[in-house]
Amino acid sequence: MFDIKQVYEPMCLKSALEIYQNNPHLTIIAGGTDVLINLRHGKYEEVELLSLQKIKGLDEIKILEDGTIEIGALTTFTKIFRNDIINKHVPILAEAAVSMGGPQIRNIATIGGNICNGAVSADSAPALFTLNALLYLETANASRTIPITEFYAGPGRVKLQPGEILTKILITKDNYENFKGKYFKFSNRKAMDIAMIGVAVLLNTTDNKVNDLRIALGVSAPTPIRCQEAEKTSLGLELTEENMKRISELTILDAKPRDSWRGSKAYREHLIKVLTYRALRELRGNK
Ligand SMILES: Cc1cc2nc3c(=O)[nH]c(=O)nc-3n(C[C@H](O)[C@H](O)[C@H](O)COP(=O)(O)OP(=O)(O)OC[C@H]3O[C@@H](n4cnc5c(N)ncnc54)[C@H](O)[C@@H]3O)c2cc1C
Repeated sequence: MFDIKQVYEPMCLKSALEIYQNNPHLTIIAGGTDVLINLRHGKYEEVELLSLQKIKGLDEIKILEDGTIEIGALTTFTKIFRNDIINKHVPILAEAAVSMGGPQIRNIATIGGNICNGAVSADSAPALFTLNALLYLETANASRTIPITEFYAGPGRVKLQPGEILTKILITKDNYENFKGKYFKFSNRKAMDIAMIGVAVLLNTTDNKVNDLRIALGVSAPTPIRCQEAEKTSLGLELTEENMKRISELTILDAKPRDSWRGSKAYREHLIKVLTYRALRELRGNK
């Protein structure tokens, strides 16, 4: 059924990176919820897999001394939405995690796999875009950090270099402290369906005036995006009904949704505006 030639199952990251360096044609498999579907659909022939599943320590969530939240790339969505650090400091990511797939998928699907498959519908992406998350990528002899907002190269494509493995996702304190966030996933079915539209909004205000507003969209362009026009215009504005509507309307200037069987372009544009407005109203509270 699966055309698999070989599976490498290293027990530590160092071995995984060395094997990958010597065999850059290998396909990485983490939870396998995308890779196995692709195999089933005959996308790979005689594939050689490099499994990350037996590597210890890549599924931890912790806070570093400077307040940065570190999430191991192999952390499952179940672990993310149940984690105390995530729920306390970046609940927007818990909302995104619990919205993805169903319980069985969330139990094995990893956040690293969700990012590296490059899907524009990836539920983690809009929340991580608003949090200005950083991706820590390692090879056998080097490492680099890249903002997630620069990692996507097009539909299903990301900027992984040969031999590179995503090992950690980092969210610095200045990108979550004093922010409130909301993620809305809109899909045709309530569970086990990918997003028709995903909208994440992260807000920092003083006396109901915007200090920093970040709006990110999934399934609204060839890659997840930030709504820069709306964000720029919002700075310093009071969150009145009128201004929240104005900000929501401006999201469309960056969005480029398309028609598909899941929903028309016009419907998606409508959803982007409505969901942004709802998120703002909810985050503002009863002012
Ligand atoms: C029934 C079903 C429902 C689903 N519903 C949703 C949904 O609602 N929302 C959603 O966003 N997704 C959904 N998905 C898609 C999928 O579950 C997610 O994208 C998941 O997070 C992928 O993670 P994984 O660990 O299974 O990745 P894998 O399948 O193991 O890998 C995915 C890709 O990333 C690469 N990769 C994995 N880890 C790394 C790493 N650390 N470094 C470098 N490359 C890596 C792999 O080579 C592969 O190309 C669904 C899938 C199924 C089968």
